[in-house]
Amino acid sequence: MEPFTWVKATDETRAIAAAGSANTQYIAGGTNLVDYMRLAVMRPSQVVDITALPLATVEDSGQGLKIGALVRNTDLAYHPAVMQRYPVLAEAILAGASPQIRNLATTGGNMLQRTRCPYFRDAAEPACNKRNPGSGCAAIGGYTRSHAILGTSKQCIASNPSDMNVALTALDAIVHINGPKGTRQVAFTDFHTLPGDHPEIESVLGPGELITHVELPPNLPRSHYLKVRDRASFAFALASAAVALDVDASGIKAARIALGGVGTKPWRSREAEAALVGAPAKAETFRAAAEAALAAAAPQPGNQFKVELAKRTLVRALLEVGGMR
Ligand SMILES: Cc1cc2nc3c(=O)[nH]c(=O)nc-3n(C[C@H](O)[C@H](O)[C@H](O)COP(=O)(O)OP(=O)(O)OC[C@H]3O[C@@H](n4cnc5c(N)ncnc54)[C@H](O)[C@@H]3O)c2cc1C
Ligand code: SF4
Repeated sequence: MEPFTWVKATDETRAIAAAGSANTQYIAGGTNLVDYMRLAVMRPSQVVDITALPLATVEDSGQGLKIGALVRNTDLAYHPAVMQRYPVLAEAILAGASPQIRNLATTGGNMLQRTRCPYFRDAAEPACNKRNPGSGCAAIGGYTRSHAILGTSKQCIASNPSDMNVALTALDAIVHINGPKGTRQVAFTDFHTLPGDHPEIESVLGPGELITHVELPPNLPRSHYLKVRDRASFAFALASAAVALDVDASGIKAARIALGGVGTKPWRSREAEAALVGAPAKAETFRAAAEAALAAAAPQPGNQFKVELAKRTLVRALLEVGGMR
């Protein structure tokens, strides 16, 4: 690990002022940043410790939730309001990492965790546009089992690794940000960016900007997260689905669908939602929604299997939430 300066921030204003200088990273739980610093993939000259900021509480208005950026993943998953009203979020968090990591990991850090593309993680690999802009992409034509099939570009096909992000995408979350130019709010679906020609840019956050909270509007009545991975005990998603439905005897009144493990960003599928709303809650409808969700998939030879896997994952999640399993 290369030498760096450590700054312990005692309030938001000081944190943002310190982080405004070049090549600085905030550190929260440190489970992603320290990993990448040890691998020499991330080499900040300054690290701003934000763990003393008062951003570790969940406020419940009875309608929605306001989740501090420093709420630990474990605390969020087991918060009574999350377990009762946002089961998709509790299930997504608990499907990720290990208990030890979840005890340290925070909401903001989880949102910004970086891809597990093996070429990105290998600092000795010369061709990685995300790590070294303009250097090429070793994954295209290489090993692609863990890579994305939606939202890819000729410059990068890395998948977003977070389970929590998939649930927050389906929940219509709103990200609250404070920064050198003041505060602002961004819809969660707009927070992460597609790789396009600049895979090194992964979110709309500007220099020094700090996630302060994530706001959740009321959830739909039924929701569920399903993750498919190589090892049930401990692995990133090959495919996952976060689904929320409002269903009555006449059919599906509202639907929110997001996919994980297959997108370069947490993947909201408006196409699947359009196929569901107004239709009867039955297996044929769910398969049609899955077909719509994956219609634009652009797999590599090594991850072609993800197209069908993602469809089946989504159908299974919908069957579960529709009370049909
Ligand atoms: C072995 C292992 C297995 C894992 N498996 C999974 C898995 O299956 N599913 C899954 O979803 N995750 C998994 N993870 C990833 C884990 O969830 C993340 O490492 C964790 O959520 C990151 O949170 P953190 O608080 O530790 O982030 P940090 O490491 O502290 O920060 C990560 C990034 O976020 C930035 N940041 C942090 N907080 C803020 C803020 N408030 N505002 C602006 N920027 C901020 C930091 O600057 C840094 O760039 C795994 C991790 C490990 C090590
Ligand atoms: S997929 Fe993206 S992260 Fe992986 S090697 Fe290519 S450019 Fe780098």
